[in-house]
Amino acid sequence: MRFDAELFRKNLAARLRRQYGKDISQATNHNLFDAVSASVQELIIPAWMATRRQYEKKPVKQVYYLSAEFLMGRALSNNLLNLGIKDEVKKVLKDMDINYDVIEDEEPDAGLGNGGLGRLAACFLDSLATLDYPGHGYGIRYEYGMFEQRIEKGYQVEYPDNWLKHRDPWEVKRSDLEVRVKFGGEIKYGKTPDGQDRFYIENAEEVIATPYDMPVVGFQTNTVNTLRLWQASSPNGFDLQLFNEMRYNEAVFNQNNAENITRVLYPNDNGPQGKTLRLKQQYFFCSASLQDLVHHYVINYGTDFSKFPDLHAIQLNDTHPVVAIPELMRILMDEYSIGWDEAWNIVSKTFAYTNHTILAEALEKWDISIFQNLLPRIYQIVEEINRRFLIELRSRYPEDYKKQNHMSIIHDGKIYMAWLAIHSCFSVNGVASLHTQLLKEKELKDWYELYPQKFNNKTNGITQRRWLCDSNPELSKFITKRIGHGWEKDLTKLIELEKFCDDDESLRELIEIKQHNKEVLVDYLKHTQNDFLDPDSIFDVQVKRLHEYKRQLLNIFHIMYLYNRITQDPTFDIPNRTFIFGAKSASGYRRAKTIIKLINTVAERVNNDRRVGGKLRVVFVENYRVSVAEKIFPAADVSEQISTAGKEASGTSNMKFMVNGALTLGTMDGANIEIFEEAGKENGFPFGLTSEDIFKMESEHSYNPQTYLERNPALAKVVNQLIDGTYDPTHQLFKEIHDSLIYGVEGQRPDPYYVLADFELYVKAQEKVAKAYLDKKNWAKKTLHNIAHSGKFSSDRTIEDYVRDIWHIHKVEVPQIEE
Ligand SMILES: *Cc1c(COP(=O)(O)O)cnc(C)c1O
Repeated sequence: MRFDAELFRKNLAARLRRQYGKDISQATNHNLFDAVSASVQELIIPAWMATRRQYEKKPVKQVYYLSAEFLMGRALSNNLLNLGIKDEVKKVLKDMDINYDVIEDEEPDAGLGNGGLGRLAACFLDSLATLDYPGHGYGIRYEYGMFEQRIEKGYQVEYPDNWLKHRDPWEVKRSDLEVRVKFGGEIKYGKTPDGQDRFYIENAEEVIATPYDMPVVGFQTNTVNTLRLWQASSPNGFDLQLFNEMRYNEAVFNQNNAENITRVLYPNDNGPQGKTLRLKQQYFFCSASLQDLVHHYVINYGTDFSKFPDLHAIQLNDTHPVVAIPELMRILMDEYSIGWDEAWNIVSKTFAYTNHTILAEALEKWDISIFQNLLPRIYQIVEEINRRFLIELRSRYPEDYKKQNHMSIIHDGKIYMAWLAIHSCFSVNGVASLHTQLLKEKELKDWYELYPQKFNNKTNGITQRRWLCDSNPELSKFITKRIGHGWEKDLTKLIELEKFCDDDESLRELIEIKQHNKEVLVDYLKHTQNDFLDPDSIFDVQVKRLHEYKRQLLNIFHIMYLYNRITQDPTFDIPNRTFIFGAKSASGYRRAKTIIKLINTVAERVNNDRRVGGKLRVVFVENYRVSVAEKIFPAADVSEQISTAGKEASGTSNMKFMVNGALTLGTMDGANIEIFEEAGKENGFPFGLTSEDIFKMESEHSYNPQTYLERNPALAKVVNQLIDGTYDPTHQLFKEIHDSLIYGVEGQRPDPYYVLADFELYVKAQEKVAKAYLDKKNWAKKTLHNIAHSGKFSSDRTIEDYVRDIWHIHKVEVPQIEE
């Protein structure tokens, strides 16, 4: 993009005047952020319009990524990077005496997601635009995103994330494209004005869905795709009559009720949902998105829908948007009088489903009563899909009633959304090789047997633009200096770094870069939370949602163990270590919250014990989110990926660490396996029980945590310290964790995530880490080796895999616009 510094400066000043009635000397940092962003948006919009024009010009198949979550993070820096004008804008600002870094830090994260699943959606959008594919996101414009976490007295406390408090400079409200979404009511059958017999709904609650578009700027290309987020409001709005009667609460009841649908993101990652409002959110954005697509189709091609699957691929990000399937059936049948068979033919060629988890509690199912009350016509359609499916199933397995019942989309009073998806979609994919294998062999075995051709793997990836170019400019320069540009759009080019693994000068520089990035993080944590870290220590990092299967508990147990060793034996010598945690817990997940309290309690003790010296330091980074993640990955030495084998579908932080030159300390789980495969096991620290070991113990009921305690007194001591007063004088705080490990609580088996079984192997692996770090040069070599072999983990590769095997879309080049 050609950049006109003078014009930019003028635009910026004009913005400040118009929006805030200020000139630069009076503007606050936030005013400046807003005006700079608005000026950048001005530069994006012509390309955005040109992209839309290009897609309309000649009909092309487009992909729509339906997701309840888009964890976008900040946009300013990333947009400047992708437009290729970051240095130029920095210079303009500097000439105006404005500090770009301060401005950048004013932007709130668009935290419209929980964790990996939402961030994957964001990385996919970046890759689609960068690779010139016509691919867009559809989701929800939550008024409040992921909650803000503060740590108070060691506990997580949640505060609302009011990210829209100031206007969002990136969004464009499209009131002209609003649609209506109906809830409840009664199903009627009768003649329409044009004489068709159709189902329709009477007395439904109607909600307005208004789209807000955000530009998705490709890296060094003219393509700008769209993320369209829906907001709910009431068509009746505010009732003046009631207000005049001084019935103020009643006057705004309808309005609030409708707006509540898009009020807040549910903060459950991988957990049960089950709430009516959540189903309302799901149907709301799916219905709005499909109405949008169908309206657009009808305007361009009329009501012959036979070409619909040739022009649309709709990817369902987990089961959250699966209600889109019966919704498209409804629109085609009830609004366009398409017959069932024809509608089903269209639907089953359009949708593809991605499974993100094998945790039983995360598989969505809805009580029939909730579902039917809220979406009566949709329920009827799901029943009919199931009725027809069961006929197939009975003829395939005439004797196997158990299988028929289990696979029925509706059974035991519930609707199984994953079953609906697998039956209706033409593709079902897992997100890492092991995950897909486990789906085929275990969780979805029956379904794989029925529909083997639908199943495929798409190992997740991350965009190197945000997670390397933008967040680690020093390392980016290092890379470009050696292999030139090109890797920004083709990460496999990093393999050319391999030849520098024996170059002392390169290794020295790599060590310096890591040191520099650690100092930047140290500075950040000093200013934000008054924590003082030693940049010469090993930065050992575990950042991800707090969940028992991710086993932050194993990590903190190891720290408690080290603390015991250090305090018992003053000669115990280890390289200085800083353990860094960052994690939000679902607000209702009690045990996860207790683990946060435990981490902070141990941190407080360890950090204030003189006997520890500099050997150990434990830091909990508050309010972990994308913008903080961008500061953490470049500074990490060790990447903690220690989930119970078989439980983590893929993981993506493991990939962000890898491209930033941290070594993986991980179990053979999710994409860790593929990371060790690419980098070589000798360049990381694999450890622990395999998924096969664990399935064996599970099926034989042979796991007894007690044997591990008897065998390992140091472990027994750590576990006992949960209740012996060492960390809590009441002995009560951590008793529940203790009991869940030793006895099993709430009907669970003891130690359901095999923390005690893996402890000793983890300690041994950590000893290897400590030893390896002493040889700085060799460590740097391993680091460079990891970076060189990280090419596979670009989301560009993942997107190309989806394109080739599932979407069958083509690149569309958007011409340079003349101004
Ligand atoms: C990448 C990312 C995640 C996913 O982390 P995992 O370790 O793969 O679970 C979660 N949150 C944020 C902010 C991320 O950037």
